[in-house]
Amino acid sequence: MTAPKTSAKRLKSTKDTSMTFPLAPDDLGPTICVGEILVEIVATTTGNGFAEAQPLIGPFPSGAPAIFIDQCGRIGGAAAMIGAVGDDDFGRVNTGRLARDGVDVSAISVDAEYPTGTAFVRYRADGSRDFVFNIAKSAAARFGLAAPVEAVIARAGHIHVMGSALTMPSAREVIGCAVARIKARGGSLSVDPNLRKELRADAETRALFERLVAQADLLLPSGEELEVAAGVTGEGAALARLFALGVKEIALKRGGAGASVFAADGSRTDCAALSVQERDPTGAGDCFGGAYVACRRLGMPVAQALAYANAAGARNVTFLGPMEGAGSRAELDAFIAATPRVAR
Ligand code: ATP
Ligand code: MG
Repeated sequence: MTAPKTSAKRLKSTKDTSMTFPLAPDDLGPTICVGEILVEIVATTTGNGFAEAQPLIGPFPSGAPAIFIDQCGRIGGAAAMIGAVGDDDFGRVNTGRLARDGVDVSAISVDAEYPTGTAFVRYRADGSRDFVFNIAKSAAARFGLAAPVEAVIARAGHIHVMGSALTMPSAREVIGCAVARIKARGGSLSVDPNLRKELRADAETRALFERLVAQADLLLPSGEELEVAAGVTGEGAALARLFALGVKEIALKRGGAGASVFAADGSRTDCAALSVQERDPTGAGDCFGGAYVACRRLGMPVAQALAYANAAGARNVTFLGPMEGAGSRAELDAFIAATPRVAR
């Protein structure tokens, strides 16, 4: 009963500065993310793929939607995950980590028959990655609108969609239903295109992706995903097209070059990258997104939310393992204070 009062106070206090919030406030209900929950096993050598035996390290909790929601919860946003794991240690590595970081795991089902999904990753010398995924034939893809999932959707205030999850029919069904219900109760939608060459989309998935982009309040593309999502070439033309579709805010991730937020009112906010030693870039975009969505929903202005998101991505690349560097607000404050910016 006290939560709505806090929300009203916060919104009133930000009114004078004429800030617009494209996302529903945190108090409306948790941010939810639907999709693959995996463990990641990382080759400790660099080179091309897995055609030969490699020394490996893991399991690390992973899956783009899981990394996103972990960072969201860890920074203090209300957060809940929808997905499935196997009845094995790989599953418990994930549910244990998410619960520790404040994520509601009540809508993660435990599959008695299928094992937890896995991703093996090996970096090439140029920094690109080769993956071997087991998602489609694992517990990760086997969930649906069970009662605990319905319950979480019914009280959610925001849904974040990861493009990678759309390759799973189960996730498409749950996401389609959740977006409609959450929007109907005044909630909001963010989309990270997160397109990977290993996870190719068919025509149906592509059509759903386009519908979601058109309904999104916030879009979080990385590099050329901006133009792919807009369906036109050129940064300016892509932004104009997406705003014309109704997107309110676009956070563009630029890896080691930082990030920018563009708003539908024509404003632009840039954030220089923090200067870090990159150890494992996997998960940077997901941590960036989790921090940005949580901070905006908690009422922070664009520049402050972007500073935390930029720091969350940068901090995460300094850790081996895709969600090991997800930071609390205090950890990110300390990291920002201690880390110089890349000169531009
Ligand atoms: P992912 O591989 O997780 O999908 P992405 O391509 O979606 O990542 P990136 O642009 O790689 O996202 O990273 C997200 C954000 O994290 C960047 O915009 C930046 O703020 C921060 N970041 C990533 N890599 C670095 C780096 N090497 N140095 C400093 N900051 C970084
Ligand atoms: Mg990405």
